[in-house]
Amino acid sequence: MSQPDNSLRLVLVIDDDQTAHLWAKRHLSAAGFTLISALNGYEGIEIFKKKSPDIVLVDIDMPGMDGFTTCSRIRELPTGKNTPLLMVTGTEDAERVALSYLAGATDFVVKPVNWKVLIHRLHYMIKASSLLKQLEKSETRLSKAQQMAKLGHWEWYFADDKMYWSDEVFTIFQLNKESFVPSYTNCHVLIHAEDSTYVKENVDNVIKNKVTVTIEHRIKTKQGQQRFVGQQIEVIENHSHELIGLTGTIQDITERKDHENKIKRLAYYDEVTELPNRTFFLELLSSSLKLAKRNNRGFAVLFLDLDDFKGVNDSYGHHVGDLLLKEISRRLVEGLRSSDIASRGLDKQYHDAEIARLGGDEFTILLNELTYPEEAAIVAEQIQKWIGEPVFLENQQIYTGSSIGIAIFPQDGEDSETLLRNADIAMYHAKKMGKGHYQFFHDSMNIKAQKRRKMENYMYQAITNNELRLHYQPIVNAKSGQLIGSEALMRWDSPQLGFLPPDDFISLAEDNGLIIKFGEWAIREVCRQHKLWQQQGMGHLTIAVNLSGLQFNQATFVPMVKGILAENNIDYPEFLIFEITETVIMANTEKMFNILWQLKNMGIKLSVDDFGTGYSSLSYLKSFPLDSLKIDRSFVKDLPNNEDDAAIVNAILAVAHSLNLSTVAEGVETYQQRDFIENSTCSSIQGYFLSKPIPADEFEQYWKSKLTD
Ligand code: C2E
Ligand code: CA
Ligand code: CA
Repeated sequence: MSQPDNSLRLVLVIDDDQTAHLWAKRHLSAAGFTLISALNGYEGIEIFKKKSPDIVLVDIDMPGMDGFTTCSRIRELPTGKNTPLLMVTGTEDAERVALSYLAGATDFVVKPVNWKVLIHRLHYMIKASSLLKQLEKSETRLSKAQQMAKLGHWEWYFADDKMYWSDEVFTIFQLNKESFVPSYTNCHVLIHAEDSTYVKENVDNVIKNKVTVTIEHRIKTKQGQQRFVGQQIEVIENHSHELIGLTGTIQDITERKDHENKIKRLAYYDEVTELPNRTFFLELLSSSLKLAKRNNRGFAVLFLDLDDFKGVNDSYGHHVGDLLLKEISRRLVEGLRSSDIASRGLDKQYHDAEIARLGGDEFTILLNELTYPEEAAIVAEQIQKWIGEPVFLENQQIYTGSSIGIAIFPQDGEDSETLLRNADIAMYHAKKMGKGHYQFFHDSMNIKAQKRRKMENYMYQAITNNELRLHYQPIVNAKSGQLIGSEALMRWDSPQLGFLPPDDFISLAEDNGLIIKFGEWAIREVCRQHKLWQQQGMGHLTIAVNLSGLQFNQATFVPMVKGILAENNIDYPEFLIFEITETVIMANTEKMFNILWQLKNMGIKLSVDDFGTGYSSLSYLKSFPLDSLKIDRSFVKDLPNNEDDAAIVNAILAVAHSLNLSTVAEGVETYQQRDFIENSTCSSIQGYFLSKPIPADEFEQYWKSKLTD
């Protein structure tokens, strides 16, 4: 089927400027094209008729017949329909471009022509058009065959269920005329399940609108084979134009479909690795772009280049080179689909990742499911590990590495071309650093990724090195001002990074899974502290601990909590409050329902944190065994002046009251805020107005000072 390339390279240049032909000849001949020249439109059309060139370059400004007319005349020729036509213009103004396309041009180039680039485009256009021509050829072949072939023919009268089938229809379905009685009912089972709605809709359309439809769908033969058929369906009317039935022709088109699919594969996939090729990748990229823009999400493009692939090709031959590419592509596909990355705490499979081979030893990976940009660095590292494993090919052990460049949407580009180019540039920088490196396009990302990794390394030792701390922020009764308890808030006292607030490290700990250990540590520490405080007469004070959603995913969560309570001889579990955000409660309601009830039955109190920032309604939360509700700081911030916020707070309080939940106003900083809350139905207050979160010993002082008040 594939012809040798050289026979595909006849270029017709139509231009009144002699020098243009000289330039064209020089560059195109060097690139293996054969050139035919025409000095005006009339001559060009005559030559086109005789020689059927593979591609035509037409100058727009010519005396006599201009380029636009020449172009549209060529398009009218029977052989000129699909030939790529490039308009050559001196200026790139919008009107000329529009006129070019209107005249049927495939594309246009601006003078002075950049020949190097143009030659690549010519190759690409010729390839694309030859695929199109092949498809057309097979379609005309089919239509000729159709005339000769006996088409299947059927009729169905509404009066009864029975159908009439010609012999050919029986052959198509591989059914026996003697044993199968065709009827409208029993022909349904012959249609492929996934296409049956489509067929039914079309039949309904014919009946309702008295139109003729042509459809293509799959059928299931008696032997269980799947085949494609084409059908044309129309109505049968009686003398008074009443609808009395349907009639149709049917033909097996499986071969043509196979052929079409094959052509699609050729145009969209890389032959060696069977991965999407550049053309397909760009399409995938642009649909990712659309989706990301619509959903306001980010994604990453990884540009991967093998280190020293040329060496492998040179020393073992192209055959081994191809096998290596196949193996690399297998590792990429399997790696991203499995959760090997789990070892980094990223328990995630990149099902939506797209992997393509751009050509040579270049691969691209589209990571659609990023939670944060730096995650791309973790994936890049993992990919380099997969590729770095030795490959055994034809009794040889081959080692190869890879350099990876990363571009992030939207900061590194808002269109496909830019993103791909910037990922390529980043890859080039990675190469310059030596083998086996990765780089983000944006340097700030490299710094961020480095910082994150550094932090992560230290983080793994935070518990064993005893670097975590809990600070306690007082919570008082809104009416009496009496101290009722505190919220325990985590800090990380890192010798390398300093004293860090939770906002600096909790999200990373959630990403790498360490939050599970941190959270467990916090519960244990709070219980230990409670026991100490109990001895000092502070045992009645509640302590609230923040829990992350990830902790609930652990099957061991409830037994773990039970263990800690037992381990510390807790005789008053009611002191302990678990703060859970509404989003976490809503994320997996059934599971949460179970867990929360188990905790409740152990005596632990449950509180909804940051209420108002999620999307749940209080009435929905009603079914959970909750005790209290914390009104998010953001609503308190502008009290009492912001009327909207005041209204929201009062509404939340009213519902909470009706559900018998106690309430905590968070982030109370000023007298005015305190007064507003004091005069509302809110039960308790927390905020800088009373105290910042403070270490345990300071909290003891605070308690004592409150006693003497
Ligand atoms: P959160 O649960 O909303 O905790 C209250 C945060 O508000 C604390 O910040 C607290 O210091 C701050 N805050 C309290 N009163 C005021 C005020 O009057 N004004 C202002 N501007 N802020 C106030 P912090 O300690 O930085 O903690 C931040 C977040 O980190 C917490 O928000 C919580 O979501 C998370 N976090 C803290 N400790 C833990 C923990 O042990 N485990 C988990 N999973 N998350 C924790
Ligand atoms: Ca909290
Ligand atoms: Ca909160």
